[in-house]
Amino acid sequence: MGFFEKLRSGLTKTRDSVFGKIDSFFKSFSKVDEDVLDELEEILITSDVGVQASEEIIEQLREKVKDEHISDPALVREEFINILKGIIGENRNLNISSTPSVILIIGVNGVGKTTSIGKIAKYLKDSGKKVLVAAADTFRAAAIEQLTVWTERAGVDIIAQSEGSDPAAVVYDAIASMKSRKSDVLIVDTAGRLHNKKNLMDELSKISRVIEREIPDASRETLLVIDATTGQNGLVQAKEFINSANITGIILTKLDGTAKGGIVIPIISELKIPVKFIGVGEGIDDMQPFDVDEFTTALFE
Ligand code: GDP
Ligand code: MG
Repeated sequence: MGFFEKLRSGLTKTRDSVFGKIDSFFKSFSKVDEDVLDELEEILITSDVGVQASEEIIEQLREKVKDEHISDPALVREEFINILKGIIGENRNLNISSTPSVILIIGVNGVGKTTSIGKIAKYLKDSGKKVLVAAADTFRAAAIEQLTVWTERAGVDIIAQSEGSDPAAVVYDAIASMKSRKSDVLIVDTAGRLHNKKNLMDELSKISRVIEREIPDASRETLLVIDATTGQNGLVQAKEFINSANITGIILTKLDGTAKGGIVIPIISELKIPVKFIGVGEGIDDMQPFDVDEFTTALFE
């Protein structure tokens, strides 16, 4: 199965419960008026699109309908999809243009950090990059073992120390190793510790200082992993992280098995942070760069 089919099948619940509802809604009226727009806004708000993004979408649609005298529901539907695409914006690729580059992966426990690292390592390796992974979640031995299994699956190298060691020291080790192996990309797993913001900030800045000192010219990404099944809570979580770290992108996981896929929209429109990868399953090939056209097509067609 190609990724688009996986994406489409992964988004089944979101499509059926939310966007399917919108689609049948577009077939249910003959002329668009204020009531129709209100009802559409209601559907969006009650799905995980949220109040702010829903209002923005409806406002744009209202203007479009008025300015261009559109009344045909099929055309309104088309405009609606265009507005949605516009709000999601352009695809934003991973910034790993210079060698070496570093990708820090952060997020609370259980959202899918380690799994995503395995998938992204495989994806980057397949695209010709030499990838190294640093096991800087040293909190539990099981976390290091789990990451080791994923790097074996992906066929990339890993640098790890024992449980309880200093995460910044692991990163230091990994950078030294990266230099001697001439790796292109270093992906760093971290422990999820949102419950202690200061702890998290201290740890991330310590890791950052090591990177800045050792490889000052490296491209940097700090990707926050959000579990799509948590819906609006994921958004709240993201806001907290934005206050403690310089997040450059989101990895949205577990879009399969949830009806809350609409959360992509407020993440991008409210937080102004690009979604760079989406996960639609537990397998190593179940993650791809986020693509606006593919995503909206998978939702509506
Ligand atoms: P971490 O604590 O953030 O490192 O999270 P893990 O990578 O250990 O993942 C936690 C659980 O989420 C595991 O059971 C994964 O298999 C599962 N998981 C991660 N990504 C996805 C996804 O895209 N889809 C599904 N269905 N499960 C996922
Ligand atoms: Mg983990």
